[in-house]
Amino acid sequence: MRIILLGAPGVGKGTQASLLAQALHIPKIATGDMLRTAVKAGTPLGLAAKHYMDSGKLVPDDIIIKLAIDRIHESDCQNGFIFDGFPRTLPQAQALAEINLQFNYVIEIAVPDEEIVQRLSGRRIHLPSGRVYHTLYHPPVKADHDDVTGERLIQRDDDKEVTIRKRLEVYYAETAPLVEYYAQLAEANALEFYRIDGTGEVDDIQARIRELIG
Ligand code: AMP
Repeated sequence: MRIILLGAPGVGKGTQASLLAQALHIPKIATGDMLRTAVKAGTPLGLAAKHYMDSGKLVPDDIIIKLAIDRIHESDCQNGFIFDGFPRTLPQAQALAEINLQFNYVIEIAVPDEEIVQRLSGRRIHLPSGRVYHTLYHPPVKADHDDVTGERLIQRDDDKEVTIRKRLEVYYAETAPLVEYYAQLAEANALEFYRIDGTGEVDDIQARIRELIG
């Protein structure tokens, strides 16, 4: 089964894609995670991508298309996969169509912009362990410090409010047209397209998705 999760940054695509991947026994392919790994490792890809990511811009299509298409040719993708954060532009979606890659479901997760800003700008990370906190929803015992080691937490550059607003702008300009693109494919019966409400509890949203895909 091949699935695309669409939606602005911060709607919970990553969380929902992970749960779905576990349930369906297929991998989640998150281009943002792949890029962050490359940045951490200091690879040429990471060096090329970093400044786009830090400023909330999209990494150029040619780089990201190659990354995603190479990944889906790996053996664990034979029974399907879930795309989280890809495609994000029309040329990326067209690159998938050009290699005749068909999808069963495209699911758009929708959350109001102000809730997205609140969700992302409160996020704090303990870099050495990867532990994630939230100033409102999951605060550390001592503000800005990790519960286990007492070390300082950081805010990712792309979680800063100005960057989030920029990422939302980029989403509406570049990614939102994909909703229309996939809705038209659904009209032609090439796939099923659904828009779901991404507010509320993680498990309830997962249940909504699972109900749709049966
Ligand atoms: P994410 O974790 O999905 O929000 O991705 C983090 C950042 O990686 C984005 O803000 C972009 O700079 C870059 N990125 C991830 N996926 C893509 C994509 N499909 N196209 C272009 N840039 C991407």
